Formats: sequence, C-alpha cells, structure tokens
Amino acid sequence: MRRPGAADRLRAAGERVTPQRLAVADALAASGQPLTAEELLRRLRGRRAAIGRATVFRALEALVGAGVARRLELEGHGSAYVACPAEHHHHLACMECGRVLEIDETYLRGIAERVASDTGFVIDDARVDFYGRCSACAAASRAS
Ligand SMILES: [Zn+2]
Ligand SMILES: [Zn+2]
Repeated sequence: MRRPGAADRLRAAGERVTPQRLAVADALAASGQPLTAEELLRRLRGRRAAIGRATVFRALEALVGAGVARRLELEGHGSAYVACPAEHHHHLACMECGRVLEIDETYLRGIAERVASDTGFVIDDARVDFYGRCSACAAASRAS
C-alpha cells in the first residue's frame, strides 16, 4: 500500500488541497531540516515567483492542522517547521546543528498510561518534543 501523501492527508483532515500547500509540503520534506517560514518563503521563491508570505503562513497552518508538518520552538529563531510522517512520533531537536530526529511513540507510551491511570484523564493525543544536543554535537562539545 502506498503511504498517504500530503494531498491525501490534507483531504482527510478536511483541509483544501492547493498547489501552494503541496509546494510548501514538498519544500519541507525535501529540506530534511526544520525551516522557518522565512526560509521556506526564500526556497519557494527560488522555484516559483508567485507565492506570498501570507500564503506560506496559511499553507503552514493547514499542514500543521493535518499533521503533515509540525511546529517546533527553536532557540534564537522562534519557531520552525518540520515535515512529519503520518505515524505518531516525537521529535529530538538538536539546538546546535538544527537536526531533528524522530522517535516512535513507544517511548512515551508508559508515561501516557501512567498519567491516564493516575488522573483518569482520557488521552487522545500527546505532543512531546525533546530539545537538546544530538549525539554528534554532544561528543564535539565534550572533545573541545
Ligand atoms: Zn515529525
Ligand atoms: Zn546536533
């Protein structure tokens, strides 16, 4: 079975599918790194002239709403966006080199179960991201 693409996922979330939204999703997926809205705008302008700032912001909102992208708070440059697969996952964001790794939800499952049983809260979703330094950056700072 084909993995659902950005268009399918936007549609499933009740969001409109537009060429601009798909272009923003493509640019994010191609980058493999978190990008700020400004960086995205610059990349998209390199390829196609007719995309404005407001369009990029609206596209990002729709993509985040559909789970195709997620917003991360990045030290220094405010927030940035990463392309996300459909499977539930969490991020490890390196504050040194900007890489974002993904871990699957099994790491958080025990915590969620404990919270649910201690509080009676019915958890539908959990957005937990970890911020720090990746193993390469941590090793480099130990070496210096
Ligand atoms: Zn993600
Ligand atoms: Zn790093």
